[in-house]
Amino acid sequence: MHSTRLEILKLIHQSPALKAEDSSKKVSDYYGELTFGIQELEAAVSSQVLNAYKAALSGKESMDMANAQKIADAVKDWAIAKGATHFTHWFQPLTGLTAEKHDSFLSFDFKTLKYVEKFNASQLIMSEPDASSFPSGGTRSTFEARGYTAWDLSSPMFIVENAGAKILCIPSVFVSYTGNALDTKMSLLRSMNLLSKVATEFLNLIGDKKVESVTTTIGTEQEYFLVDRAYFKARPDLIMTGRTLQGAGMPRGQQLEDHYFGSIPPRVQAFMADFDKELYRLGIPAKTRHNEVAPGQFEIAPIFEVANIASDHNMLLMEVLRRKAQDHGFECLLHEKPFAGINGSGKHNNWSMATSTGENLLEPGKTPHQNVRFLAVLSVVLKAVFNRQVALRASVASHGNDHRLGANEAPPAIISVFVGDLLSKILSSLERGEDLSKTSAEQVMITFGLNQLPSLPKDNTDRNRTSPFAFTGNKFEFRAVGSSQNVSLPITILNAAVAESFQEFCVRLKTKSAQAVSNDSAVLEIAREFINESKAIRFEGNGYSQEWKEEAKKRGLFELLTTPSSLKTFGKEEHHTFLTKSEILKDEEFQTILHVQYERYSKKIAIEANSLIQLSKQFILPAAFEAQKDYASSVKAVESLGESPASLSAQRTYLKNLTDLIDECFAKIQTLKKDLGEAEKAEEGYTQAAIFAEKVVPSMGLLRQVLDQIEDRVSDNHWPLPKYQEMLFTR
Ligand code: ADP
Ligand code: MG
Repeated sequence: MHSTRLEILKLIHQSPALKAEDSSKKVSDYYGELTFGIQELEAAVSSQVLNAYKAALSGKESMDMANAQKIADAVKDWAIAKGATHFTHWFQPLTGLTAEKHDSFLSFDFKTLKYVEKFNASQLIMSEPDASSFPSGGTRSTFEARGYTAWDLSSPMFIVENAGAKILCIPSVFVSYTGNALDTKMSLLRSMNLLSKVATEFLNLIGDKKVESVTTTIGTEQEYFLVDRAYFKARPDLIMTGRTLQGAGMPRGQQLEDHYFGSIPPRVQAFMADFDKELYRLGIPAKTRHNEVAPGQFEIAPIFEVANIASDHNMLLMEVLRRKAQDHGFECLLHEKPFAGINGSGKHNNWSMATSTGENLLEPGKTPHQNVRFLAVLSVVLKAVFNRQVALRASVASHGNDHRLGANEAPPAIISVFVGDLLSKILSSLERGEDLSKTSAEQVMITFGLNQLPSLPKDNTDRNRTSPFAFTGNKFEFRAVGSSQNVSLPITILNAAVAESFQEFCVRLKTKSAQAVSNDSAVLEIAREFINESKAIRFEGNGYSQEWKEEAKKRGLFELLTTPSSLKTFGKEEHHTFLTKSEILKDEEFQTILHVQYERYSKKIAIEANSLIQLSKQFILPAAFEAQKDYASSVKAVESLGESPASLSAQRTYLKNLTDLIDECFAKIQTLKKDLGEAEKAEEGYTQAAIFAEKVVPSMGLLRQVLDQIEDRVSDNHWPLPKYQEMLFTR
């Protein structure tokens, strides 16, 4: 074994395994101790201030500075008592990460001539980070290179502890001086408001008059890999790009399927316990944790929450995940495809809608009316996904996710919806349905067996893992979202699509119910129309199969394999004006998102290509030369003994093969450099991204193939890079 890898192995085996922090407290004792929510506020301010806060929260009134100052004081005292020294507006620029700039509470008091801790209402409400270095798609001219962050009242403030430093974080939106969103949260909030408005209108129309609002609920299942930090540090590709750009296959991958739900390794268990504990302290309701399909892959899922909070929490969860993993000597990989040949990581987004009266709109009901409503909502979602498949596909497009969606992996690049056996049957019979206007609602129930629905089995036995969008009992699961991605955009698009579909439903219902015998039958009739019109989007079979690709094409569904092709299609008016018309995005904001996505895609691939070239030149070729020397001297040594050439066939073959591979590697590096040069010179935007996708990415793939073969041919003692089996099976 090469000395680098041997040292790492020794290090891992000699370092004592960390145990989870001891805790005699029960979770509910410390749950949320690092968050400043409504309860903390209630305890610290007068009822008048509290009411002002609540009024602002509901959007009825804006808060005046005097009340805001009371809140700022309360938060400051709370944070300082917890040991915080700094505060920051915590926001989510279009880079997909979170951003923060710390300011201390310290200020000079001119009355007492002393330094004291202060926190002004204006600092709580607004802050001005320099927006010029965040991607904004060139929509802002330099003279107004200012953006500001504004406190998002609906998401609780929290304290982040990092290596002993404690910082008060104020969840915020990030907008330009002209009021354009520069982050992913503004549009998410707008989409939630719109969905609430139109879903409420729909519910009121169909007879649920008590409903006043509807919230979007989200539960994110986060997948990730853990590798030992020492291995991570010895892989420049992992450090620079988050994924391995090279690595020969292993004799054993995930074919035994023994990792999934297998027992969690003790070292990982200790990490998970500490990780969960930190999430609880931050008020993130972690619920399930388990191994995933691939070796070294795991999952964490919190209990679902209101969408913008769930989205904030997911961003925070990813940060805590990285940090806690490091505390336990791991590096957490959130990339969609860290290792070739085994499963990548996604982030299943469980999505539903809850009414102000406490009902889940995707829950099959107990009464005939509830079932009619359930079917109608289902039809609304089906139609939304059918109509807006391109936008949904584009919302999860990224260089990392292309490895999953474009390749033979879950889920495919064709957006389709899986509803399961029973619902499929019901939808099909509804589709074929008789003239419903002549039938009473009750009769329809009996005809279609809808009274059976309340006992709809909620187990997941017939779940289809290959579907990008699946109904799972009482929610939809958008599975195409990438593991490293901020969920705001996909949820925004989904909400917008569903809102549009609800609106259409209401329009038709208003015309129809004037003539309809009963409201429920009119509702069912429109549901039937929606189900018919969106029929092509429903698919229950194997999403990976070649047949599905052909079938989908016949049905006229889109298969957008790469990020540039998805973005280009999304850029066509017919696929995105539903967002601008509904004012979820201004046209300028939409163009910004597109621009930033193209830019990020191109930059990330350029970094990968450069890293791969570096890896080849500085690590792999030198190792290959060493091995080549070994074979050559072996040949020479044996020849010097006067042996016949026949007895040298092994050495000679190895030498020849390796020499050929070295030549090939050299040639492939040149091609990659040429393609990279061409891409870098191209016009930014689609043109450039397309060259990256069509030339650079394939060239990288071809070079990689050679590198992987070289790994196979170089003896273990010359190979410096940690191998797949070491990274994935040592812990
Ligand atoms: P799975 O079998 O896919 O792991 P779970 O029942 O564990 O399914 O749920 C996965 C996620 O779905 C969890 O985060 C859970 O809280 C969330 N979830 C459950 N109900 C809803 C809902 N009504 N809206 C949004 N998310 C939900
Ligand atoms: Mg799931």
